[in-house]
Amino acid sequence: MSFHCRFCNTLLKNTFVDLGSTPLANSYLPTADAPDQSYPLHVYVCSKCYLVQLHHTVSPENIFGHYAYFSSYSSSWLEHATRFCDKMKKRLSLNSSSKVVEIASNDGYLLKNFVAANIPCLGVEPAKNVAEVAIANGVPTEVVFFGKASAQALKDKGHAADLIAANNVLAHVPDLNDFVGGFKVLLKPDGVISVECPHLLKLIQQNQFDTIYHEHYSYYSLLTLEKIFAAHGLEIFDVEELPTHGGSLRIFASHAGKPRWPSSPAFAKVKQDEKHAMLDSLAGYEGFSKQVKTVCDGLLTFLKQEKTKGKKIAAYGAAAKGNTLLNVCGINTDLISFVVDKNTAKQNHFLPGSKIPIFGPEKVFAEKPDYLVILPWNIAEEVREQMKDIRSWGGKFVTAIPQLRVYE
Ligand SMILES: [Zn+2]
Repeated sequence: MSFHCRFCNTLLKNTFVDLGSTPLANSYLPTADAPDQSYPLHVYVCSKCYLVQLHHTVSPENIFGHYAYFSSYSSSWLEHATRFCDKMKKRLSLNSSSKVVEIASNDGYLLKNFVAANIPCLGVEPAKNVAEVAIANGVPTEVVFFGKASAQALKDKGHAADLIAANNVLAHVPDLNDFVGGFKVLLKPDGVISVECPHLLKLIQQNQFDTIYHEHYSYYSLLTLEKIFAAHGLEIFDVEELPTHGGSLRIFASHAGKPRWPSSPAFAKVKQDEKHAMLDSLAGYEGFSKQVKTVCDGLLTFLKQEKTKGKKIAAYGAAAKGNTLLNVCGINTDLISFVVDKNTAKQNHFLPGSKIPIFGPEKVFAEKPDYLVILPWNIAEEVREQMKDIRSWGGKFVTAIPQLRVYE
C-alpha cells in the first residue's frame, strides 16, 4: 500500500520506525483469551516537509468510539491549565467582550477558568458524552469535529476568537490541512492561536518510541509546524518548551504578518536545536530505528537474565505507552508476571497483546517481586515515592526509557 504525506501530499518512502503490528494501546481485555486485533504501527517521515506520521488502517471511530478520558481526573494537569489561562488573560488583555474557543475541550477543565473570570468562551468537542459533562459544569460546548466547514459555521454564529487553544489534539488529527485551515477561518484579525503538542525532538533524543500508538497520527517539530501554519496563512511567532508528556511545545501563532508580540529567543533556540539535530534533513530521522532496537534489546536481556536467576518481576502502570513498549519488545507473562494500576476500571483486565493481568497496587505487597518495572516513565518519581516500601524486601525499581535503569 502506498501513502502520501498528510500535509504536503508527497509519496512517503522513508521509514522513521516500523514497530510491527500491535493492538490498540487502550483496548484492555476482559479475559486473557478475548479477541485481540493488531494493526500496523509503521511510522514514516516525509522527504519534503519532514512531517513524521503514521498512516492508520484503523478508523478514528474505532479508536475514539469509546474514548472516555476526562481530563479533570489529573490534578497536575488541572494546575497546568489554570496557569495557562491566567497567563493568557494577562498577555492578551482578555475581558468580558473577548472570546476564547478551545478545540477538543474535553469536559471543560480548561475553559472553566475563563468562565470563572467572566470571559466568554466556547468549547468544541466531538465526543458527545464528554461535552455533556462540560455543559453540565457551565462551560458552553458545541459537539462537532473541528475543520474549515465547522469553523465557518461557528464564525457565522458569532464565535470568531481572540484566542484559540488546542492542546494535545494536533497529534490526533487525520485531516491536518482541514484542521489548521479551520484556525485561519475562526481567528479574529488580531487573534492568537495557542497549540500544545509533544515535541518530536524530545521523542527522538529520549527514545520515547512508546509514545507512538495508533491514536497519534503525526509527530511534530517546530520547523515542520512552521511550514504547516504558513501554508494556511498563519505565522508562528513564539514557543515555550514544556516538561509535559516527556517534553512538549506550546506554540503561539497569528495571521501571517501580524505577530501579537515579538518572537522570543526561545523561538530561535528551538529551531536551532532542531537544525542541530538535523531535523531539516532525512539524516536526523535515520538513526531512530536503531535506537529503538537498542532499548528493546537492553530491556529483554535484563529481564531474561534476572528471570533465569529465579527473580520475580512485576510492572507498574497499565498505561498506553507501556503497551507499546511491551508489545514492540515482545514481552509477555513469561517475563513480567503481572502489572498493577490504581485505576480500578483497568484492574481485573489484561493488557492487550502481552496478556499480562492487571491488579491493584496491593498485589505488589502480597507478591513481593524483586523488580518493579515502571512503565509510565513520565511519572517514575511519583511511583517510586508511592511504592517505596518495596525496598523492605529488597525490591528494586526499573525504568526502560530513555535507557535501562535499575534504581539501586
Ligand atoms: Zn510532507
